[in-house]
Amino acid sequence: METPLLKEALHRSCWVQVLVDAPVRERTYTYRLAADMAAAEGDIVCVPFGGQSVGGIVVGCLEELPAGLDAQRLKTVEAVLGSGFFPATLWPLLVRVAEYYLTPLSRVIEAALPPGILSRARRRLRLVRPVSPMAEWGLSTGAKAALQFLEAQKSSDLSWRFCVQQLPEGQQALKELLARGLIESYFAAGERVRPRTRQYVALTGGPSGLTPRQREVIHCLRRLGGEASVEQLVEAAHTTRSLIQNLDRLGHLRLFERQVFRSAHHAVPADAPKILTPPQQWVLEKLNTAPPGPVLLEGVTGSGKTEVYLQAIAPVLARGESALVLVPEIGLTPQLGDRFRARFGEQVQIYHSALSEGERFDGWRRMLTGEPQVVVGTRSAIFAPLPRLGLIVLDEEHDGSYKQDRPAPCYHARTVALWRAELCGCPLLLGSATPDLASFRAAAEGQYLHLQMNERVAQRPLPAVEVVDMREELDRGNLTPFSRTLQQALQQMHAAGRQGILFINRRGYSTFVLCRSCGETLRCPNCAVSLTYHRLESGEHLRCHYCNYGRPQPRHCPHCRSPNLRYFGAGTQRIAAQLAEQFPALRVLRFDRDTTARKDGHRAIIEQFARQQADILVGTQMLTKGLDLPQVTLVGILAADGLLNQPDFRAGERAFQLLTQVAGRAGRGEEPGRVILQTYAPEHPVVQAASGHDYRRFATSELTERRALGYPPYEQLICLQITGSEQQWVIAAAEALATMLEGDGAFEGQLLGPAPCTVERVANRYRWQLLIKNTAAAAGRARLQDLLALYATPPGIGVSVDVDPLRL
Ligand code: ADP
Ligand code: ZN
Ligand code: ZN
Repeated sequence: METPLLKEALHRSCWVQVLVDAPVRERTYTYRLAADMAAAEGDIVCVPFGGQSVGGIVVGCLEELPAGLDAQRLKTVEAVLGSGFFPATLWPLLVRVAEYYLTPLSRVIEAALPPGILSRARRRLRLVRPVSPMAEWGLSTGAKAALQFLEAQKSSDLSWRFCVQQLPEGQQALKELLARGLIESYFAAGERVRPRTRQYVALTGGPSGLTPRQREVIHCLRRLGGEASVEQLVEAAHTTRSLIQNLDRLGHLRLFERQVFRSAHHAVPADAPKILTPPQQWVLEKLNTAPPGPVLLEGVTGSGKTEVYLQAIAPVLARGESALVLVPEIGLTPQLGDRFRARFGEQVQIYHSALSEGERFDGWRRMLTGEPQVVVGTRSAIFAPLPRLGLIVLDEEHDGSYKQDRPAPCYHARTVALWRAELCGCPLLLGSATPDLASFRAAAEGQYLHLQMNERVAQRPLPAVEVVDMREELDRGNLTPFSRTLQQALQQMHAAGRQGILFINRRGYSTFVLCRSCGETLRCPNCAVSLTYHRLESGEHLRCHYCNYGRPQPRHCPHCRSPNLRYFGAGTQRIAAQLAEQFPALRVLRFDRDTTARKDGHRAIIEQFARQQADILVGTQMLTKGLDLPQVTLVGILAADGLLNQPDFRAGERAFQLLTQVAGRAGRGEEPGRVILQTYAPEHPVVQAASGHDYRRFATSELTERRALGYPPYEQLICLQITGSEQQWVIAAAEALATMLEGDGAFEGQLLGPAPCTVERVANRYRWQLLIKNTAAAAGRARLQDLLALYATPPGIGVSVDVDPLRL
């Protein structure tokens, strides 16, 4: 029976949806908020869950109880531990990402937060000192016992759960102490990531009467500004820890602990701002006077875009605001990160997923302090919790690694950056030599400010690109992967004491193994792809680049037992080996996912090459991303064809960008560069445009075609992927979904498919897709979301949504 009073209480109370820290499928639960509690989205709360107290984050505040939930059975939030992990401007951004990408908000939060904050966040408590003798007055027996227990503990920072377990009436007693202000409760990382502290010492001006040695230490501390870390003082005063501890006991100075932030930064020599070239100067003036909004900086390779970023950031820091710089991949971060650190020193933080959990956790907390800083990071750094953001820079804004593939949220950091800049009212600077066609179109139509730098710094010429027809090489009996032009160029380069880069699309030794007797290729048992042959120290192996399945190289064909196996398609490993064989004098380094897998592997190889301990760098796409190596005069592109023939409407755009970017690594120093582009299709328009460094021609013709076909950036695509372990069920589910979408009168989008994905089977799951051309913008996405919610997904089938897919 509901009494009128209870009814009123129910009416007043508010409900919150909480993303709990527990390994459960349904991640969010509804809780009651007690009358004296207030909570906002993004707050960290403590909630009862499965018999214990767990951490959680408020993802929704509800005025009314959702239908189907029984108010009587809902548990109450134990404590609201305050906001803290998101600055106010970030929350609406996360909500917008969830809405646009048709993803649950909880997934977006998980993608945004560094690991270890939510998943291992634990409630902790601290005794508020000093405890006055009167403190116990009026406390219950349980609370008194708790107070004595806490005072007896050595550590001042305790786990809430531990205390509850140790005390007979733990939960109740602690709440009483909390209400009386005798303890503070807060959230911190759990066992795996703890804030790190260091011992510090400060002057207190305590009683006099010191020995000469003690006095010397005090003087030294005064010279250090009255405060220093213990290590610093030990070294500066040539003293010992025990002497300092003694002075602390005597009250002459005070020892205390302070949190420090872990970081994996390397030392870099400082670097002063360069005198800008006239185009750089012009761009910077435009930037500084432009109203907030997106800016596309289209600058040819080597035009000095990084220097523009650096000088655009300086005034931001001077105003007390922070800057966020996104870079495509980790391979690029060491060199670029160093350039930022050389300019701004300790104000720069490098943030990416290859950091340790502790480093990421500390990085996040440092951002939250609000002190002006520059965060240089990869895709997920777009969610960096910088409270006062003055500028966002996306370097190489065309790069595909800004898009997150599945799992959801399949967000594009550039799209999110546009929203973030809008929410913060700060400028967004998109830089590239080969802008994404969507950015180019937006700039051309006046939605973005469009700035250009068409020349390299110091009037260095763009490298000359020579296209070599590999069909002719074959006709002349050259069966090596190196054309005669390239061979000569390599020799000249070596004679001149310069360095070179060879680009090849694939890693490994051979891209497939074929049986000459029965014609079968050796395939991955789990995926619909051929296996790649790798030569490792441990022996010869076949490996699947999709699911990482591996097996030793068989001596006989598994189908017909013939020993006649042949290796086709060259990868980085084979090129490196053949290069060493044909040019024994050249020292070769390999730069691909296999050789850079160790922590700091990229840095190690790039530094080795930069120190001229090798003549040639053989590598994959990784090479294309902004490397600045002034000694490189020669770039060889071994087979452009693999890039051109991909079953995707963006293949041309990607190939053009890749070719232009690889070519752009040549001639960045004093010496002009030379590029040799080998292909079986020299007349291909992409090859023509790339060899002429003609972005404009390429972009204009490509956009005309996209408009005619109704492809992005003119129409929005949404890809639904249907997966499952049985092919016929996957197809049936995809067809049922298609029928349902087609039958809905309100849904306007045009439907393509269902069709198998480019690689139909990966890790034993079949994958089919439905492509939707969404002509109704936000209304279309909302309708699709409603329809998907209605679709009864058959058991064993997964449906995932990718809004604006990058790869089909
Ligand atoms: P981009 O990013 O446009 O490809 P970078 O910023 O890497 O080009 O600059 C190319 C090279 O030119 C770098 O070695 C850089 O140090 C140098 N550079 C850039 N700006 C200047 C300048 N104003 N004066 C002298 N050298 C410069
Ligand atoms: Zn065979
Ligand atoms: Zn596989």
